[in-house]
Amino acid sequence: GISYGARAPSQVLRACQGSQSWGQITNDWTMGLNVHVKTLILGGTKEGRDLAELLAENGHEVTTSLAGRVRRPAHIAGEVRVGGFGGANGLAVWLVDNGIDRLVDATHPFAERISTNAVAACRSTGTPLLRISRPSWASHPLAGTWTWVDSHDEASREAAGYEKVLLTVGKQSLDHYRNLPDVAARMVELPEEPLPGSWRPLLERGPFTVDSEKELLRDLGVDVLVTKDSGGSLTEAKLTAAGDLGVQVIMVRRAPVPKDVPQVATPREALAWVNEVPAWQAPGRARGMY
Ligand code: NAP
Repeated sequence: GISYGARAPSQVLRACQGSQSWGQITNDWTMGLNVHVKTLILGGTKEGRDLAELLAENGHEVTTSLAGRVRRPAHIAGEVRVGGFGGANGLAVWLVDNGIDRLVDATHPFAERISTNAVAACRSTGTPLLRISRPSWASHPLAGTWTWVDSHDEASREAAGYEKVLLTVGKQSLDHYRNLPDVAARMVELPEEPLPGSWRPLLERGPFTVDSEKELLRDLGVDVLVTKDSGGSLTEAKLTAAGDLGVQVIMVRRAPVPKDVPQVATPREALAWVNEVPAWQAPGRARGMY
């Protein structure tokens, strides 16, 4: 193997890239660092955007895939593609056609269909898959005081026992709550279907502070906060605020991630995975030989 320091000088990097006829990944066998990897990120989250930037900064080739739900998505480093792949098979074909070495599923913990498709597509093509998942709120100090439910329908039934509801479940899940009359619904963008006339939409994107969340809960006279276990710190302040004010919380649980999919909590750990999983261990490398 070629030997150089932990940060490869760019001329070494270029020489390596030019000399590899067997694929995109250049693996430094001495350090165990891959210096050029073609990664697809399934994005639509802050973690996905941050990872795209880290990968681009570290000389990797990166494409981020967005579903196309948000009309004006934030800027993302590297290439961006928008729209569904056409199920797990469509994603598998896309991975092979575009010579993808690694797939990082950085989608929201509640984007369950695309995550299931990612597992199937990576199995069928032998592409290494990593999940970035914001740490669950199950270990939040107040978690034991909340009502945990398995679905939005169950959350909606529970919430029917309260008067004033604050919903922070995302615009795509609002349909499950249409039976509730007195609702303030916070979301980034309005859904396509009009909301019930008695509802009050609050169009805002986090992060929020504990003080502003308390003010909101008080001003609206909220009895119950219905939310889902998105996890992480960006939208966590509402939980502290609700706890301080004695507002009940109904929390929708996440679906579990399959046990054989490696999982990390942060974009930095995902960069390390892209850098460190040795090329020779990656089944995706053998694709052409099957
Ligand atoms: P979903 O229910 O799991 O996915 C439904 C379908 O949308 C998938 O089968 C796939 O279509 C397409 N899709 C989803 N994410 C995609 C992506 N990143 N790139 C290309 N196609 C994608 O997903 P969702 O809950 O609608 O979420 C859609 C996007 O919004 C994701 O990128 C997610 O990270 C983001 N987001 C979701 C939430 C949430 O609460 N669900 C919150 C914040 C952000 P095909 O089968 O045709 O490939």
